[in-house]
Amino acid sequence: MKLHEYQSKRIFAQYGIPVQEGEVAATPQEVRTIAEQIGGPVVVKAQVLVGGRGKAGGIKLAQTPQQAEEIATRILSMQIKGLPVRKVLVARAADIQQEIYLGIVVDRAAARPVMMASSEGGVEIEEVARTHPEAIKKVHIDPFVGLRAYQTLWLAKGIGLPPSLHRDFGRIAQGLYRSFVECDASLAEINPLVITSEGTLLALDAKIVLDDNGLFRHPDLAAMRDIDEETPSERAAREAGLSFVQLDGDIGCMVNGAGLAMATMDIIQHFGGMPANFLDIGGGARAERVATALRLILADPRVKAVLFNIFGGITRCDEVARGIISVLDEVRPNLPIVARLVGTNEAEGRQILESSGYRIITATTLAEAAQKAVAVARNA
Ligand code: GDP
Ligand code: MN
Repeated sequence: MKLHEYQSKRIFAQYGIPVQEGEVAATPQEVRTIAEQIGGPVVVKAQVLVGGRGKAGGIKLAQTPQQAEEIATRILSMQIKGLPVRKVLVARAADIQQEIYLGIVVDRAAARPVMMASSEGGVEIEEVARTHPEAIKKVHIDPFVGLRAYQTLWLAKGIGLPPSLHRDFGRIAQGLYRSFVECDASLAEINPLVITSEGTLLALDAKIVLDDNGLFRHPDLAAMRDIDEETPSERAAREAGLSFVQLDGDIGCMVNGAGLAMATMDIIQHFGGMPANFLDIGGGARAERVATALRLILADPRVKAVLFNIFGGITRCDEVARGIISVLDEVRPNLPIVARLVGTNEAEGRQILESSGYRIITATTLAEAAQKAVAVARNA
């Protein structure tokens, strides 16, 4: 779950990271009032859960409250990368001397968090990684030992920070690491962290991505979820307890178990097809959950064929078959369906599918199922 900039900044501030004074607003009038309270130039920033807002015109400086109101009127009617702007952050404008990058993510290969710093802040870090990888300094953090002072000093020196800022940089890095750990985040990022014209450090942007699996420990953070930012499919999936990720291909996949879902996607690609989604209906899925999952798949206009790959253990094949049929009765999709149902109550499941009157192509092995799905998607 991604947090907005203004939410991430509130959290960072609790960990001693310096941020601009500011407030979030949903109307141009509110923006004007906040700008009046701040006094002096402000920056008006679109709050949408995508990067590159600046480039898209979603971040603008205003000299007066009147100008802030006008800018807010424009920004609040924009869409950025398809997302309508519903809120803006109004903050005291900063005078920038230099933009730095500072962030933490989990390095899965190293099985520990990695802190990264770069003197090339402000642009997307992926871009820096591509064009000048040597400009990114990294330290891995031993979770049992924590972030050490020598590591933050090494980063500070590595990015050429003046010695007068090393202490403050160390404090900010420690605060960032603590917020990352205590929120169960998978990413915490300040881009840019700026050196202001007064020569102090200030977090101008903030991004936190929370690990959904840790959310149950943080009801306060879970309550920050902005349901306006979820696509209808994502919301339906979350509410039904399904793990669902939309992809670009044309074969809709419905599978039980994350590992089997991964294997199914791989094998579809192996046979020259492209999965339209990752979808794990979980163990013991009942007919209703299967139906929700199938509705999600069919809601994607790119889907040309559907592949069911169900390994019946706790999940019973007859329940899954009933779920499939109930949705087919409801939506009557006009596309080919390939089903591989094996395991518990396999025979009953197949019987339900075969006597349903729908043309469902069955398969017994995963390879056979994938090949059939690829073939029917290609001919569709
Ligand atoms: P992003 O484009 O979504 O990453 O949004 P950021 O908050 O990082 O802002 C993008 C860019 O706008 C920054 O890199 C700055 O160059 C500029 N910017 C943002 N806030 C201010 C500000 O208060 N003053 C000035 N002068 N520039 C700002
Ligand atoms: Mn940024």
